[in-house]
This record gives sequence, C-alpha cells and structure tokens, in this order.
Amino acid sequence: MDCLFCKIVKGEIPSKKVYEDEKVLAFYDIAPQAPVHVLVIPKAHIGGVDCIDGENLGEVACVLEKIPQIARSLGLEKGYRVISNVGEHGCQSVRHLHFHVLGGEQLSDKMA
Ligand code: AMP
Repeated sequence: MDCLFCKIVKGEIPSKKVYEDEKVLAFYDIAPQAPVHVLVIPKAHIGGVDCIDGENLGEVACVLEKIPQIARSLGLEKGYRVISNVGEHGCQSVRHLHFHVLGGEQLSDKMA
C-alpha cells in the first residue's frame, strides 16, 4: 500500500521516533507547528477518524491511551493540544490516522 506513514512504520522512510510499541508509533512532525509537535499513530493502517469502527477501535484505543504518557515524556506538564484532521475540509494530507500532539508554549485559544 502506498501510504507514507505505513512506510515510516516499516522503517522504509526514516523518522525521529519518540515512542514505539507493538501497536503504536510516535515521531516528530517533519514541519513542526509548535515547539513540540509529534504525531502519534496506530501501526495498523486506518485511514483517519472517519474510518474508525468497531473492528479497529481497539487499535485506536491503544493510541489514545499512550498520548498522556508520551506528552509527559516530552515535558508537556503544562498542557498540550491533540488534533486529528479529517478529509479535505479538515486539511488531512496523510490518509493514515494520526493525532498531532502540539505544545511547549501557550497555544492560541483559537482552534480554526
Ligand atoms: P495532516 O496534514 O493532518 O494529515 O498531517 C500530516 C502531517 O505529517 C503534517 O503535519 C506533515 O508535516 C507531517 N509529515 C509529512 N511527512 C512526514 C515525514 N516524512 N515525517 C514526519 N512528519 C511528516
């Protein structure tokens, strides 16, 4: 499958990893939009939030469960933002479910 993040999972494209286990991978975004900007993804291919269903919910739960631990490891004790863009209007550019974790400074109170 021609999916950028599947290639990162397989090690075919390099990434700067911050966390990895059997089901979850977190790595630094190549074009950071905050002092700390990491992407947390399921290793299994799920297209996006719009593709979450009863079958893959377990994989998604594993990702969400790890976000607080990853955020703590990055020193984000004062808080952070978790974003998942969906589809064209959401400006999703990679069709593999990912959660942006942004922080390291006071973020804007505007989300869009
Ligand atoms: P989105 O636009 O919400 O789908 O987010 C995709 C994110 O992937 C963007 O923030 C990109 O900067 C990031 N990205 C694209 N290619 C890479 C890469 N090779 N390594 C790390 N992050 C990437």
